Amino acid sequence: MMLEVRDLNAWYGRAHILFDVTLGVERGTVVALLGRNGAGKTTTFASLIGLVPSVTGAVTFDGEPIQGRPAHEIVRRGLGYVPEDRRIFTGLTVEENLMVGAQPPRPGVPHWTPEMLYELFPNLAELRKRQGGHMSGGEQQMLTIARTLMGNPSLVLLDEPSEGLAPRIVEQMAQALIEMKRQGLTLILSEQNLHFARLISDRATIIEGGRVRFAGTFADLDANPEISAQHLAV
Ligand code: ATP
Repeated sequence: MMLEVRDLNAWYGRAHILFDVTLGVERGTVVALLGRNGAGKTTTFASLIGLVPSVTGAVTFDGEPIQGRPAHEIVRRGLGYVPEDRRIFTGLTVEENLMVGAQPPRPGVPHWTPEMLYELFPNLAELRKRQGGHMSGGEQQMLTIARTLMGNPSLVLLDEPSEGLAPRIVEQMAQALIEMKRQGLTLILSEQNLHFARLISDRATIIEGGRVRFAGTFADLDANPEISAQHLAV
């Protein structure tokens, strides 16, 4: 297992948000974390990356426990995080945004350069001198992912990458994520869009009300349509 999460509980103040969440992802595979608005997907990611102060449970990344470690240390170990809100530097160009994310190479994972990322996201190649603030939402989302890859992560948590994108851009996003997987990256993808998730993912975990309601393959999910009907907006 590249990432193993056992009995994760999280609180915001006194509000108990995650209840004994257990999930894992094998190296080189993609897991979709599915759930409706407010199910706890973002909180799960924020907890894994060290951004929720009040958390219990065990998290092992690449064989090492990371629970309780500060976010900057977890990121430095190779866990990349692409938040839902696009966090680019609007006053910097595409190329400058990429250089801000640059980190030294890491053994066993692709060493990304801006040229490789322009191949992965051809839209960005045409915009390399454009300021981040003068780009569409979809382009900003791609730039956020590209900048995260400049850190040469081994595992990337992607929070709703298809959200709010035009259908044509969703297709490009799916192709890019499939290519990232082909290059050996491990991904956890939070999604409300079951169709998009199944294009990319090997397995699915469904959460609802901060609890895991299903974990298995898409074939398992298809064999039990009542699960999606109950816990997903389909
Ligand atoms: P979305 O797609 O809306 O982001 P989600 O599955 O990512 O949904 P979370 O954002 O993790 O869900 O929210 C889980 C629960 O935690 C929700 O009930 C939400 O209202 C609550 N919550 C989120 N952030 C906070 C916060 N800072 N303080 C208190 N409660 C919060």
